[in-house]
Amino acid sequence: MAEKLFVTTALPYANGPFHIGHIMEYIQADIWVRFQRMQGNQVHFVGADDAHGAPIMLKAEAEKISPQELVARIASGRPKYLQGFHISFDHWHSTDSPENVALSQDIYRRLKAAGLIYSKPVEQFYDPVKRMFLADRYIKGECPNCHSKDQYGDACEVCSTVYAPTDLIEPYSVLTGAKPVLKTSDHLFFRLSDPKCVDFLNGWTTTPGRLQPQVANKAREWLSGPGENPGDQALGDWDISRDAPYFGIPIPDAPGKYFYVWLDAPIGYLASLQSYFASGKARANGEPRSFEEFLAAPDTRQVHFIGKDIIYFHTLFWPAMLKFAGPPYKVPDNVYVHGFITVSGEKMSKSRGTGISPLRYLDIGMNPEWLRYYIAAKLNANVEDLDFNPDDFIARVNSDLVGKYVNIASRAANFITRHFDGALAYAGDIDALRRQAGELAQQVRESYATREFGRAMREIMAYADRINQEFDARQPWVLAKDPARRAELQDICSRTLYGFKLLSVLLAPVLPDVAAHVARELFGLDRPFRWSDAGEPPQRVNPYQHLMTRVDPKQLDALFDADSPVGGKPAAAKDAAAAAATISIDEFKRLDLRVARIVAAEQVTGADKLLKLTLDLGTETRTVFAGIKSAYDPATLTGRLTVMVANLAPRKMKFGVSEGMVLAASNESGGPYLLSPDSGAAPGMRVS
Ligand SMILES: [Zn+2]
Repeated sequence: MAEKLFVTTALPYANGPFHIGHIMEYIQADIWVRFQRMQGNQVHFVGADDAHGAPIMLKAEAEKISPQELVARIASGRPKYLQGFHISFDHWHSTDSPENVALSQDIYRRLKAAGLIYSKPVEQFYDPVKRMFLADRYIKGECPNCHSKDQYGDACEVCSTVYAPTDLIEPYSVLTGAKPVLKTSDHLFFRLSDPKCVDFLNGWTTTPGRLQPQVANKAREWLSGPGENPGDQALGDWDISRDAPYFGIPIPDAPGKYFYVWLDAPIGYLASLQSYFASGKARANGEPRSFEEFLAAPDTRQVHFIGKDIIYFHTLFWPAMLKFAGPPYKVPDNVYVHGFITVSGEKMSKSRGTGISPLRYLDIGMNPEWLRYYIAAKLNANVEDLDFNPDDFIARVNSDLVGKYVNIASRAANFITRHFDGALAYAGDIDALRRQAGELAQQVRESYATREFGRAMREIMAYADRINQEFDARQPWVLAKDPARRAELQDICSRTLYGFKLLSVLLAPVLPDVAAHVARELFGLDRPFRWSDAGEPPQRVNPYQHLMTRVDPKQLDALFDADSPVGGKPAAAKDAAAAAATISIDEFKRLDLRVARIVAAEQVTGADKLLKLTLDLGTETRTVFAGIKSAYDPATLTGRLTVMVANLAPRKMKFGVSEGMVLAASNESGGPYLLSPDSGAAPGMRVS
């Protein structure tokens, strides 16, 4: 009886590239999803960019591009990470989409009809210059307690006092420096405190198996209203509207008002699912029903993976919204919460990130499956932080993955190839071995299903230890010298390879690439492993091919040292290598190619082909005349990044001096097409 699963991860905010915290969550969810698929369950695994809200609007404004362009630029950088770490989303979408507009407005109308929406005046700081209401993070001033200057509107970073923005001394707008004024506006609220909401949530949050105990406890605290402590709050209603200017979804019956980004963000899960159904991919994935039918079906299991910072939204607002919007909307079946990732014990900061850049990890050639294994080995089903420790990482990958798992295959397979031409044979009865394999597979299955990945890895590695010990105890290298003991040699190597196949099946959710190689190359299967393959003793093995290298500690140095060149080689060695290399590399190195931001693009009076570009190189600005007029409207160029030759001798032209050249592609059939760097590149970066 196959399950039908709709699985999501939290939507990343589309104002920057993924950080390691995102990648950890995707790896956790992906392992679970791949495990479910291997069981024969039907999984629809979708994600999306969270595109709305003031931070994206303001960032786009600062870059002189539209919010849509900013979001598109960020979205174009996503596949590199997702493919790089083998994250098997079935679909990726955006909350800034027609599906999300329609769904958000529909859910709002239904909640209003259910009597759960009301309007109330709210007094808030307003920037008279920018003509915009200011969220706390856009107001600064002097701390009323310790009198430190330039503290944010919600709390003092020096003395940690929490206050209202109106308590600040000499407040000013971060956006314009203007003195904010208090202004009143009507806001729309979702009546979460309504007894029918509270009753429903009391039941939903305590349904056995739905939430982790820690998460259910947290929800119970929020739901039980004012506690014994003086500062405790009753369950509050939720302010779901924001005034223009705002980048978001218009509220249908309230001109000039938009949904607060947190209202439409989780609805983005459904928008992505709907877009996935519309694309035909759901049908290809074995689901013949419509989006609405699938969503509403009682046997569809809706599962959200999230971080511990957004529990409130996902265990109170989100289920209540879905419940009272009514069918086809259905409440989530599970919300699985994980902790944060720390690096060598240090907490990650959203603005500074951590020492680990996921893109750098890939760029310096580190194996994504090392990280998948390491994260799996350290995850359990609780809401606990996970620490990335470089020494621990090296030890676990090298001793567990390579030392215990990969090596056993090469040792046993080499004997079989050399002495038996690939044929496996088991002496006597292998039912005991089969039974053992079945028991282990059942144990590990239980661990994966309950997201106890660390326990699964320990169970798998304990079995790997056992296989290695039995192999060593029977000394196949001694047996190989004695023609009379050929059958014994073939038996121990066959049993070992059966064990290796079993381990590969059990590790496949974590190591999809290695497992696919093992299935195809070593055991000659024409498909990836299924869970049921764990019980099948192999009959043949192909010659062993390389599966995985060990981690070089120098790679960890390169990962943490952003200044060292990609590849982790010291700069001097790199120069020496270049001196000995071909002339063309030497010549290439004389080109100073830089990432540049087009800060202005203008028509040139009297020029047929040229546009005048003003380029920001980080530390200086250049004027370049580029022959791209036939292909680009100057208005669409402003704000985008491109690549320029920065050390081209200035050239005096009819219309002025050109101080460099931008790079573009073309041939007889099309172009020019301007080059763009991947998301994350910044003006002034050297291209090499
Ligand atoms: Zn203070």
